Amino acid sequence: MALKFPIYMDYHATTPLDVRVFEAMKPYFLETFGNAASRTHQFGWTAEAAVEDARETIARFIGASSGKEIVFTSGATESDNLAIKGVAEYYASKGNHIVTTTIEHKAVLDSCKRLQKQGFEVTYVSAGPDGLVNPDDIRAALTDKTILVSVMLANNEVGTIQPIQEIGKITRERGVLLHCDAVQGLGKTPFDVQAMNVDLASITAHKLYGPKGCGALYVRRSKPRVRLVAELDGGGHERGMRSGTLNVPGIVGFAKACSILMEEGAAEAERIRGLRDRLHQRLTAELDEVVLNGHPTLRLPGNLNLSFSFVEGEGLMMAIKDVAVSSGSACTSASLEPSYVLRSMGLDEELAHSSIRFGLGRFNTEEEVDYVAALVAEKVKKLRDMSPLYEMHKEGVDLKSIEWAAH
Ligand SMILES: *Cc1c(COP(=O)(O)O)cnc(C)c1O
Repeated sequence: MALKFPIYMDYHATTPLDVRVFEAMKPYFLETFGNAASRTHQFGWTAEAAVEDARETIARFIGASSGKEIVFTSGATESDNLAIKGVAEYYASKGNHIVTTTIEHKAVLDSCKRLQKQGFEVTYVSAGPDGLVNPDDIRAALTDKTILVSVMLANNEVGTIQPIQEIGKITRERGVLLHCDAVQGLGKTPFDVQAMNVDLASITAHKLYGPKGCGALYVRRSKPRVRLVAELDGGGHERGMRSGTLNVPGIVGFAKACSILMEEGAAEAERIRGLRDRLHQRLTAELDEVVLNGHPTLRLPGNLNLSFSFVEGEGLMMAIKDVAVSSGSACTSASLEPSYVLRSMGLDEELAHSSIRFGLGRFNTEEEVDYVAALVAEKVKKLRDMSPLYEMHKEGVDLKSIEWAAH
């Protein structure tokens, strides 16, 4: 098959809609367009039935005991905000301390920052150099004022999969609620809110071949029953936790995307892992000084985050314009700050600026991998040929020992 350009290898940012998901959604735009909250006619009943069906499917996918534990939102940003601010506000009389990690998504970190302005205390636990959070560090951060711990299932930059089950044992033992941003790991690595003692979980459809603008928050209903203060005032939808007319086609698509992963997720993960390893092997066969960021084995099958020393990630991306990837420089803002995730893992600024995140997924092929590997190897060599630092390194000069006159 001929290659089609541009080639998409940025599946951590978003995923294309699976055509099977699109087909499942279609009637809910055009024919059965009712408002799921309309109780007085067939249009409403049909929409409501579709939503309740989707709720059960999504609940089953994450190991929840009932569809009633699924609160639909506009996406994981909203789910993270609702979980953290909603719990903080409800349990404020019990304690004012929250524990999270330095490598969380901005939706979690910025929600915590907002709470700090309101008088809450937040402990940010660092990940190790491999991106792994140590459960003992979480345990050590807990105080008798801690009401919530928030740790992600898998990191969106380096793909490291966190020991949620161990962390869940600790939080349950201490009677502290555990929130997990499960967006990146869901469907790619085991996730089960019961087995892992997770009390709240954020998920979103567009990271698993579903539509954008549709997410959910899992809120445990028993042992313990989790309570939260709603962020939106209005009609009292979603058992009072999230007002607003439900995105029925989006929700139907979300559930379809989950069904597909329940059927095919395990086999798909193996196929994508194979492609990812092939890309990694080809690049390291052609190039020296390539550093793998994140944990070598405990990571998402489609994630490959590499630093190409002596090459600017931004420059490399420009050189491979018909391949969509992202770099460790620009992903957080318009400024060229190096990634806070890589920096907090202890990576030096140079290597953080040299990083490229390849995110592989469902529709990537072996031909694409081979093309991208060859192109990246060629461009890295070219860029290094123009680098005096690389030249010095090749001649055996220890660059770290040099005192630079100016920075
Ligand atoms: C993409 C992402 C989010 C945000 O989800 P949206 O549905 O786009 O708001 C939150 N957390 C993680 C880890 C993500 O990768």
